[in-house]
Amino acid sequence: MKIAFIGLGNMGAGMAANLVKAGHEVHAFDLSEAARAAAHGAGCTTHMTAGEACAEADAVVSMLPNGAIVNSVYAADVFSRAPKGAILLDCSTIDVATARKVIAAAQAAGYDMVDAPVSGGIAAANGGTLTFMVGGSDTAYARAQPILAAMGKTVIHAGDAGNGQAAKICNNMLLGIQMIGTCEAFAMAQKLGLDPQVFYDISSVSSGQCWSMTSYCPVPGVGPKSPSDNDYQGGFATALMLKDLTLAMEAAKTSGSTVPMGQHAQEIYESFAKENGARDFSALIQTL
Ligand code: NAD
Repeated sequence: MKIAFIGLGNMGAGMAANLVKAGHEVHAFDLSEAARAAAHGAGCTTHMTAGEACAEADAVVSMLPNGAIVNSVYAADVFSRAPKGAILLDCSTIDVATARKVIAAAQAAGYDMVDAPVSGGIAAANGGTLTFMVGGSDTAYARAQPILAAMGKTVIHAGDAGNGQAAKICNNMLLGIQMIGTCEAFAMAQKLGLDPQVFYDISSVSSGQCWSMTSYCPVPGVGPKSPSDNDYQGGFATALMLKDLTLAMEAAKTSGSTVPMGQHAQEIYESFAKENGARDFSALIQTL
């Protein structure tokens, strides 16, 4: 299949390379020359504009920073250049309203399109082990699924257009809240004289157990290896957690949802990100 890939950054580079490995002919574009050169090295054919990359594509995949950029790339380049009948997949994390707007415009222009944001970071993008949450019609999902399966290990149809983004931000709002709770519990346990390993041994098999504790413990040396064991480098950057919580707060407003814990988590990460945006989000424990 001829696949256009737009946005070859931290995530997109590995995803495009995995499409090449799966035997697809990948036509890649990024504004960055260095990103284009790396994609060329990974076996992609590179182009100087997004429109050129899309010109003969059976499918278009995008992995871009935000909703405004996704909207403008699809409106300016994809809808005017991709052959009618191509399947379009936006894997960026963007706001639900923009995802629905772009998919409606795609349908009006004669394309099937899905929103397919991912869970998993750069290592999962490189390793082809991402989880995709997919919004779109049954037909669009059926067409997108095999392409996504070449870049990930789990692909789940979340319902209509925009529902992939809805699943992503609700999940990450829960993760943000849960990590703050885990950090608070470990910090207080220690101040009360409990050894962190002993608290872990108890809580990880008790009702406080959660992913932030047993897969991603914020205390170094406790639980499976996680960014806390690497001075909070790598992992999930605080700036990205803040981006997702900010999208979640926008969605809460537009959907009339009451999210006091999500709101507070957003405020806490906003303050923490001022000095620590590049560090893993579990580094928050150092402020408690
Ligand atoms: P990134 O900034 O590394 O990559 C984005 C790329 O898009 C850059 O290379 C940039 O040059 C390119 N770009 C920007 N505007 C463009 C345009 N108009 N045309 C073509 N290329 C353009 O970001 P990333 O970490 O790869 O994240 C991409 C998306 O994936 C974001 O929406 C992010 O929220 C989401 N995401 C990231 C992670 C992660 O761990 N990095 C995890 C899950 C989801």
